[in-house]
Amino acid sequence: YTQAKALVYSKYGEPKEVLRLHKHSISAPHGTQVNLRLLAAPLNPADINQIQGVYPSKPSLDTALGTPEPSAVAGNEGAFEVIATGSDVKTMSKGDWVIMKRTGQGTWRTHAQMDESKLIRVDDKSRLTPLQVGIVSVNPVTAYRMVKDFCDWDWLRSGEEWLVQNGANSGVGRAVIQLAREWNIKTLNVIRERSSPDDTDALKGNLLDLGATAVVTESELLSGNFRRVVHELTNKGREPIRLALNCVGGESASALAKVLAPESHLVTYGAMSKQPVVLPSGLLIFKNLVFDGFWVSKWGDKHTALKEDTIRDVFRLVRDGKFKDIPVQEIKWRSGTDGTDLVEAAQGTLRGFRPGKGIFIF
Ligand code: NDP
Repeated sequence: YTQAKALVYSKYGEPKEVLRLHKHSISAPHGTQVNLRLLAAPLNPADINQIQGVYPSKPSLDTALGTPEPSAVAGNEGAFEVIATGSDVKTMSKGDWVIMKRTGQGTWRTHAQMDESKLIRVDDKSRLTPLQVGIVSVNPVTAYRMVKDFCDWDWLRSGEEWLVQNGANSGVGRAVIQLAREWNIKTLNVIRERSSPDDTDALKGNLLDLGATAVVTESELLSGNFRRVVHELTNKGREPIRLALNCVGGESASALAKVLAPESHLVTYGAMSKQPVVLPSGLLIFKNLVFDGFWVSKWGDKHTALKEDTIRDVFRLVRDGKFKDIPVQEIKWRSGTDGTDLVEAAQGTLRGFRPGKGIFIF
């Protein structure tokens, strides 16, 4: 038996109200079962929305782990190490690293027993870290597919076209910057102002180091001067902005739309400000802009092979040193924890202005 701990919930609410630590044991694997040990699992905004009950994909609640009430394990992605395999397991063995095939499998736990069919084996873990593997399937895949699938590649003349994005300091935003740099697309990135100008400049510098072409603050985006700034940046308007990526909503989203070239796409994938996206009619009538949405969970379930190819390509870039780690705050599963520190970390996920994304490490 393996002694295991998991963060579970039986009803929706704020993490600090509903998440609790559950201890249980895991037996030796049978058949196609695989026993796993956590390496690294991130705390993504969607994980919190799911616990709050405001996320469209709801986990199924059951008593499989011996909880008093039917419950679900929180967390949707992570890297795990195989510690034992059932006799019918064919594609993975002890010591391999795996990630989840789908979201909703529950990753905020020290150990798990899952069926081989629900896991993706990392073909080659050389020169990869648990962090890089544990966060690959949500943020980088979202960034990769949005830039690849909503850019009109026939129009793209290498290096002369732009995309614009808000939430540029997010995990997705940082991935967008680096992928666009690889694919010769210039990026105009919007961040939120920090409490001091020095901190804002430091963050701008940080994103420029990743390969951002330009970084502006939300107040610069919303100022009357922004069109002129864009005109200058884009070689007096000769380099069109063909794609906008929006994870904020509200005025920020409308401001992105206003600088797009005709027929371009604005893809909404998040709603951090909780404000609706308002579309000025003129942009639809005169510019025929296209407004899309993207949801990686749905996309991944539909395109399983392409998802694995996408992940492989991101790992290739990581190994080549072309894809830098996001800033993180590690949260260790200490052996004596009663879960308070883990739940507190979950509660802090949506606070914003954080030095890095929370990552559970075992
Ligand atoms: P991170 O946890 O890495 O970062 C969150 C970002 O949100 C930070 O950069 C933060 O800005 C910003 N933010 C927080 N509150 C606000 C606000 N009120 N106004 C503007 N910005 C704010 O996030 P992820 O990269 O994991 O996710 C970013 C967004 O993308 C989320 O909305 C998430 O749900 C969504 N997402 C959607 C996916 C999809 O398939 N549709 C997949 C992956 C993510 P700051 O740095 O200034 O604190």
